[in-house]
Amino acid sequence: MKKQQSSGTRSKGSSAKTNPALAELTSIAGVGPARAELLLAAGIKSLEDLLYFFPRRYLDRTFAESTVFRAGIETTLIVTVQTAYLAHGRMSRLVVQTRTMQGEPLSLVFFRGAQYFRRVFVKDATFVVSGKLEFYGGMQMVHPDFEELDSEDAETIHVGRIVPVYPGSEALKKKGLDSRGFRRILHSVLESSVTLPDLLPDGLVKSARVLDRMQSLHAIHFPQNKEELALARHTLKFEELFLFSAHMKQKRDERLREPRMLWPLAPGKSKQFDSLRARLPFQLTTEQDKAILAILKEGTTDHAFAFLLQGDVGSGKTLVALASMLHYTENRVQCAMLAPTEVLARQHFRTFVDLLGLSGVQVDLLISADSKKSKAQVLDRLARGETDIVIGTHSLLEPEVVFESLGLVIIDEQHRFGVEQRESLRRKGKNPDVIGMTATPIPRTLCLTEFADLSLVTLKEKPAGRVPIKTIRLAEDRRPGLYKSIRNHVSNGRQCYIVYPVIEESEKLDVRAATDAYEELRTSIFPDLKVELLHGKMKTEDKDRVFREFRAGRVQILVSTTVIEVGVDVANATIMVIEHADRFGISQLHQLRGRVGRGSEESFCILMAGETTEDGEERLNAIVNSDNGFELAEVDLKIRGPGEILGKRQHGVDGLRIASLLEDRKLVEESFAAANEWTDLPPGALEFIKNRFSSAEQSLS
Ligand code: ADP
Ligand code: MG
Repeated sequence: MKKQQSSGTRSKGSSAKTNPALAELTSIAGVGPARAELLLAAGIKSLEDLLYFFPRRYLDRTFAESTVFRAGIETTLIVTVQTAYLAHGRMSRLVVQTRTMQGEPLSLVFFRGAQYFRRVFVKDATFVVSGKLEFYGGMQMVHPDFEELDSEDAETIHVGRIVPVYPGSEALKKKGLDSRGFRRILHSVLESSVTLPDLLPDGLVKSARVLDRMQSLHAIHFPQNKEELALARHTLKFEELFLFSAHMKQKRDERLREPRMLWPLAPGKSKQFDSLRARLPFQLTTEQDKAILAILKEGTTDHAFAFLLQGDVGSGKTLVALASMLHYTENRVQCAMLAPTEVLARQHFRTFVDLLGLSGVQVDLLISADSKKSKAQVLDRLARGETDIVIGTHSLLEPEVVFESLGLVIIDEQHRFGVEQRESLRRKGKNPDVIGMTATPIPRTLCLTEFADLSLVTLKEKPAGRVPIKTIRLAEDRRPGLYKSIRNHVSNGRQCYIVYPVIEESEKLDVRAATDAYEELRTSIFPDLKVELLHGKMKTEDKDRVFREFRAGRVQILVSTTVIEVGVDVANATIMVIEHADRFGISQLHQLRGRVGRGSEESFCILMAGETTEDGEERLNAIVNSDNGFELAEVDLKIRGPGEILGKRQHGVDGLRIASLLEDRKLVEESFAAANEWTDLPPGALEFIKNRFSSAEQSLS
């Protein structure tokens, strides 16, 4: 990169010598050591960073063709100073009297900095001023934005054009780095001879009809007009998405190059799996079979793979996981399955133990509630390779967990985990294969981007024989009727969940509310039934006991918080009541609803909600009208945006500054297609990708 030469040899202080970033920044005219420190603090470490510090919005301060001179409007005018004086009234102020080009009198009023502004607005000087016209005995503008016009054709940067407004903290502003400050600095860089090399292949710039890099950077900060601004934004979004996609492609290629360290699976056959299949009380769905085949096919290649197994709630992902694992265990390769909650880990453990029976596959459970002794035993078995399959919570990630030959890592409800957590489990293996499972369907655009380096397997249908869940919204006045029908179903042998929202901010109160409701249900509404309470703050043994009793059918009504949200599988439970349903998000409601409708009995999901906000109505309507997770995810994406859906910790779109996966879907597809076609990147592109995207790692691999 060509550096700008500043005027002469300004003293740069000693820190500039030791910090190359500081040296680079102070080379900009108008940036001394103090400003450079400010820029650094704002995360701007280079000229490139500075140029990619994009305006947050713009002010249209182009001159109106025929200036309307009326109080209340925002306008930009050219004025000539006539006189300035201090006025003392209720508040003392500096009044600068001017005349517009049309000869109208206009006062500029300054309540602060009178001394300074008096020196700026000298008689006969010409200024462009921008602000709101007010009538106060005469026309005036209070603290307008202004810029002196020294010659007719001087390029103004604060007024008389579309003006950039920069994001910035109050702290920066206090130290003089406000939008005006940024405009000056950026203008001086853009007017200098600094150039950044193009990041898009030459031919692509032409074929995609975008600007070249410096043109677009110039125009994003100082656009000539709205059309040029639009084109610049388009170009920079395209550039960003193209490079992001190239980054994901690199990662995928890297993984393909990395050889498997454990012997690849023997193609296709597993006695253990065959005997499991024979013992299952049902047939695998075609979708499950296809998914298992797809996974095993990759498993026989000589490079490690990473899959994302998507399937709506209740589509039977657990069995796909187990089936895949059996092919590994048969080859003496250990498998680990990570689950987000203890309830879920225990449930998987029991399912597996039940299904595997005496097949000789050693399954272990590792959760923090384990006693020291039993934990030590599991750790020992893992390290010696005696455990074939281990299921666990975050406890699996701890350093003392060591495997003899971990070759397959499965992450259940993968959106519940951060990238670092997944990686730390993966690192315990010998370049293991990874399967992430999620019931939060990820819309296509997000798959293209976030998971571009993963192979996608989707379970498109649920097991046959499921009766659709009836979803009904009820207001408070229907509660007595609701309790009556719960009683009906329960006396016919069914079970019921009643779920209360608990959010972090009001956790204590929320748990209190759930507990109070439980007491009332237990003592006065269903005193003859077995009602139990389950929430995250309970002791592990209690949680475990309650859940075991519920699974066994000995508890009829489970009053619970969202601890049951993910994965819980009790086929006999057919009623789900969600209290304050308007407080839940769409995907959460869908997940909760997925706890029922798991058997062949008709199931109900009752949303208790009174009047609510517009967003709340939209969410509830969506849930009532659709039980298709993919459709709901699209609605969710519209309401909340991608970051929320993917989960904050891993959404990894941190690298995207200007493009939006939500709003720029078409561009996402275009630029991703381009990245697959144009694989020869200019030299600077790799460096840029590394700086921008590698720090926000997001994939499973
Ligand atoms: P999820 O995809 O939400 O994790 P699960 O794996 O928990 O779903 O499966 C939901 C329920 O469906 C479980 O009770 C499971 O035993 C059952 N199930 C799985 N596969 C089939 C099938 N092929 N036919 C019938 N029931 C199945
Ligand atoms: Mg599941």
